[in-house]
Amino acid sequence: MTDNHRFETRTIHDGYEDKSHHNSLAAPIYQTSTFTFETAEAGERRFAGEDPGYIYSRLGNPTVRMLEERIASLENAEAGLAFGSGMAAVSAVLLNLVKSGDHILCSEGVYGCTFGLLKMLEGKFSIDHDLLPLDSVEQIRSAIRPTTTVIYIETPINPTLKLIDLEMIVSVAKEYGIQVVVDNTFSTPYLQRPLEFGCDIVLHSATKYIGGHGDVVAGLVAGSKDAMTSIAKSTQKDIGGILSPFDAWLLLRGLKTLPLRMDRHCANARSIVENLSSHPRVKKVMYPGTETSPSYAIAKKQMKYPGGLISFELDGGKQEAQEFMNKLKMIKIAVSLGDAETLIQHPSTMTHAVVPEGERRRMGISDSLIRLSIGLEAWEDIWEDVLQALEA
Ligand SMILES: *Cc1c(COP(=O)(O)O)cnc(C)c1O
Repeated sequence: MTDNHRFETRTIHDGYEDKSHHNSLAAPIYQTSTFTFETAEAGERRFAGEDPGYIYSRLGNPTVRMLEERIASLENAEAGLAFGSGMAAVSAVLLNLVKSGDHILCSEGVYGCTFGLLKMLEGKFSIDHDLLPLDSVEQIRSAIRPTTTVIYIETPINPTLKLIDLEMIVSVAKEYGIQVVVDNTFSTPYLQRPLEFGCDIVLHSATKYIGGHGDVVAGLVAGSKDAMTSIAKSTQKDIGGILSPFDAWLLLRGLKTLPLRMDRHCANARSIVENLSSHPRVKKVMYPGTETSPSYAIAKKQMKYPGGLISFELDGGKQEAQEFMNKLKMIKIAVSLGDAETLIQHPSTMTHAVVPEGERRRMGISDSLIRLSIGLEAWEDIWEDVLQALEA
């Protein structure tokens, strides 16, 4: 649509053409379930695919299409798709790519409900998976089976914020003809664009940074035109986890400020990391932007900035962590992330409570680990709240 504009410009303009919509500056919300055909023959042509108009909103809606074009532009993809939640996006992608008997190789530490979906696929359809650190070529090679069709990764990994080297994953996957799918929720296309490293499909919980205001649940996917058409015509159309026009509009609006918000989230996170790291009650800070982080080199290579999430371990265990959280005054206790408000959660009793304890330990999730999603407030106010709770 707009040729060769920079990322910040594309977040505002791509996917929308005011001239085609009565010169309305803001994108209109096409709040309709269906579209009329002028004649029976026109309807026939539309169903036959000879006429490109809309038919019914589960199969496509103009406001949703604007968002799909915008995310495609931002991920540097040929096409995009929108869903009613991040999990609707994850399930539509995976169910499209795998069949009974296949094997999925996953990064250790995937989103809790993605883990639940993998278990469901295993139980109901004999689709196996392995969860591994995926931190060396040898390890990936030895985990690949003749039935492996997908490598599914999250980077940064929640909540330890370890990174996976996308270039390395792709180099091995290509040798075996395996599709690489990346959940890019924590990074957003502003910080990291997996398709540029050769990954095949990128997806998001747009509920988080892309919406950015804590008021919408949504999912987005981007990839090749063929891959997106295949998903649109199968698991999106027939399972039906589509996005509403109003929620698409909220995301179109949220995306306009994505670069500004991410700059602030990341700058705030850097300031909080510096202060947290030198506090005597803090045992360990996990942030891919610190030089001592095992992921520092990968962050430099594949991310613009290391993100707005910080995990840290307090002196003590579960009780000390919970006491600390209860003493916070401004910072809200909530799961989710990427909102204007700074949010804090306790992974071992919240987002990762379903993961068996042994597995949690192996992943580096102790009972004193706390995750902060740094918001857009003045960083000094965030730090002052953390500090008074640490010292109370
Ligand atoms: C939140 C989240 C999801 C699920 O998204 P929903 O919009 O809640 O369905 C998937 N992956 C990651 C990394 C998430 O943070």
